[in-house]
Amino acid sequence: MPKINIAIDGFSSCGKSTIAKELAALLHYKYIDTGAMYRALALFSVRKKLMTPEGIIDIHQLERDILQADVDFHLNKETKKSEVFLNDEAVEPYIRTLELGNLASTISKYRFVRDKLQKLQKKIGLQKGVIMDGRDIGTVIMPHAELKIFMIADPEIRAERRMLELGDKGANVSKAEVMEMQRVRDHEDLTREEDPLMRADDAVILDNSYMTKEQQLNYVIELVEHIKKDLIS
Ligand code: C5P
Repeated sequence: MPKINIAIDGFSSCGKSTIAKELAALLHYKYIDTGAMYRALALFSVRKKLMTPEGIIDIHQLERDILQADVDFHLNKETKKSEVFLNDEAVEPYIRTLELGNLASTISKYRFVRDKLQKLQKKIGLQKGVIMDGRDIGTVIMPHAELKIFMIADPEIRAERRMLELGDKGANVSKAEVMEMQRVRDHEDLTREEDPLMRADDAVILDNSYMTKEQQLNYVIELVEHIKKDLIS
C-alpha cells in the first residue's frame, strides 16, 4: 500500500495531536508536532533571558543567539517515543504549560524563527508516511499532502479540554481565564503577518465538538483509505 502525507491544522486544543498520534500509531507513520518545536524555542528564549515570562523579547539578541538552539526530534530512551529535543535535552516535561503556549505564539510571529523551524519541517515533509500538525502545515509546509484536515471545535469545549489536559498544572486557572487566553492566542495566530493560521483550499474541515475520539479516528481512516485506493487505481 502506498504511504501518504497528512497535514493537520487548526486552533489550539482542538484535538489535533490526539488524532495525529492515534493515526500515526495505527498507520505506522511518523508524527511531527510542530507546535512542540515553537514551544521548545520559547523555552530556550526564556532560559537564556532573551524573552521575559511576560513575552517581552530582546529581538536582536534572539536573532543572534537562536543559532545556538538546536530543535529536533529524537527517540526518548525512557519513554520510547519520538519527542522534541532542545540541544539534546528532552524538553517535553517543561513545554506543555499555558504560559509556554502563549510564549510560543509570541515568538512564532518572527520570520527568522519560522524560517529556522520550517527548514526542518519541510525536509521531513519530503518523506512519505508523515503526519504533521500545526498552523501552517497544509498551506506552507506540506502543501502537496494527499490529505489535509482543518480541525475546529466549540471554544467552550476547547477550554474544558485544555483544563483537563492541564490537570494539576492548571489548578489555579479558571475556565474564564483559559477561554480568554485562548481567544487572544487564536486572534494572534489568525492575524499575524507570517504564515497565519489558514485553511488550505483543499483541506477537509473536521468539527469535533461533539465527536468521540473513536468517531474522529474512523472518519479520518475512511478518508485515508479512500485516498490510498485512488492512488493505486
Ligand atoms: O500547537 P501548539 O499549541 O503547541 O502551538 C503553540 C504555538 O506555536 C501556536 O499558538 C502558534 O502560534 C505556534 N505555531 C505556529 N506554527 C505551527 C505550530 C505552532 O506558529 N506550525
